[in-house]
Amino acid sequence: MKNSMWDVVIIGGGASGLSAALVLGRSRRKVLVIDAQEARNQVTRSSHGFLTRDGISPGEFKQISVDQLKRYPNVVYRKDRAVDVKKEDSLFKVATEMGSDVLSKRVIFATGMKEELPDIRGLQEVYGTSVFPCPYCDGWERREEPLAIFGNEEWLMSYIKLICNWSQDVMIFTNGPAKITKEEKRELMERNIPLIETPIECLQSTDGRLEKVITATGDALERSGGFLMETGATQASRLPAKLGIGLGEMGEYHTQEGGESSVKGMYIIGDAKNTFSGLMKAASEGYEVGASINHELVLEEW
Ligand SMILES: Cc1cc2nc3c(=O)[nH]c(=O)nc-3n(C[C@H](O)[C@H](O)[C@H](O)COP(=O)(O)OP(=O)(O)OC[C@H]3O[C@@H](n4cnc5c(N)ncnc54)[C@H](O)[C@@H]3O)c2cc1C
Repeated sequence: MKNSMWDVVIIGGGASGLSAALVLGRSRRKVLVIDAQEARNQVTRSSHGFLTRDGISPGEFKQISVDQLKRYPNVVYRKDRAVDVKKEDSLFKVATEMGSDVLSKRVIFATGMKEELPDIRGLQEVYGTSVFPCPYCDGWERREEPLAIFGNEEWLMSYIKLICNWSQDVMIFTNGPAKITKEEKRELMERNIPLIETPIECLQSTDGRLEKVITATGDALERSGGFLMETGATQASRLPAKLGIGLGEMGEYHTQEGGESSVKGMYIIGDAKNTFSGLMKAASEGYEVGASINHELVLEEW
């Protein structure tokens, strides 16, 4: 597909990109979605909190979204990866891994984040099955269970308080000296919340279900699940950075509120803009940016 011309090319087909494609498709725009199909939540078995779709698997969520786009012949969804984006005059030129070179009036980056998990042996096996980053996504299923909290970030105390909303049987594993005050340590002791600062040797699990946290001193502490404060998330695509878009403190791309970037005609939405938006917010940003782009094009064409 050399030099074909689109109204909007959407790079990334997660909740944010597919939602933008739906509203733009319904606005009669010629839309190409290029999707590498590596969403960050694909490690999980079920997604929660999306109205009408609570508990659905990430694969089914995506399949329904892509199937519904088939109603709109002006929308094309393609598995591929954008490898280069240039702005030439007022148009964007997008090159893909499979050799396509396409032109578009607007481009949306809905490329999400990818994890670089901390180096804890056995963590990869449980991540997304019994150890999760977000209690709003997976806390209900773990309620009242014996949980581990892994992390040692500045906001450790507030994260502990949050997780205790779902289970008060928690153990904190800081994998080294905890970065909290003596008063905060006393607060944890008073609440019978064990703080384990000994380095972690490994996590033991079966079929993704956490069973024990083994410390460097040989203790084996039984836990059936847990939450991870810091997943080492980084941008899944560096293409916006190549176009001069800077990163904020949390690693999110700088944009205006509505997702418009400093490059005119280029938008960034979903996790790439927020680091962790959740499916509902990602989809709502896609809807919002899709409607806003269509409105711009309508006025240009008038
Ligand atoms: C373990 C885990 C569990 C979660 N559970 C929930 C939950 O239960 N409920 C909830 O609301 N949220 C959950 N989330 C959060 C949710 O997954 C994200 O907030 C949401 O997926 C963000 O949507 P997005 O469209 O921005 O990005 P993504 O869904 O990550 O989609 C980005 C897409 O862009 C593609 N892409 C990247 N670069 C390129 C490129 N160069 N070319 C082409 N395609 C590219 C990727 O392959 C991917 O398909 C969870 C997250 C994790 C990590």
